Amino acid sequence: MTYNEQNIFARILRGELPAIKVYEDDRTLAFMDIMPQAEGHTLVIPKTAAVTLLDLPAEDAAYTIQIVQKVARAIEKALDKKGIILMQLSGEEAGQTVPHVHFHLIPESLHQLRQHAGQMGDQEHIKRLAEKIKAAIASE
Ligand code: AMP
Repeated sequence: MTYNEQNIFARILRGELPAIKVYEDDRTLAFMDIMPQAEGHTLVIPKTAAVTLLDLPAEDAAYTIQIVQKVARAIEKALDKKGIILMQLSGEEAGQTVPHVHFHLIPESLHQLRQHAGQMGDQEHIKRLAEKIKAAIASE
């Protein structure tokens, strides 16, 4: 699938748009979802320009999943949660709204989720959660 360099996550990666970051290395970035489906909703993205999981080279996918695990562990620890949803929407037909591959981590029951990309969260509250998650990652 053709990659649009102007998509929101590409712009976040280039530093053109702000994000509430919890982890970054040379291959991945993790940041808070601004319209969380539950408290602690976090996104992990590879820096590779790929639209869907199927466009992502296998080695980038494998590396990104390690970071997904790292961030998931930190979310559970930082927010004292048990159980986490890992969601990955590939393609508009599946409901994907941002065309840069990303993994959603949502520490909540499937039956309690708010609407997908429905409503802006309280950004100050989200920043406080991000600080806790960041600290948990740093202490791993
Ligand atoms: P998807 O529909 O799977 O592509 O998910 C895109 C996600 O990105 C949604 O959960 C949105 O709430 C979230 N989102 C959109 N814009 C931003 C942004 N600027 N920063 C953080 N999250 C965003």
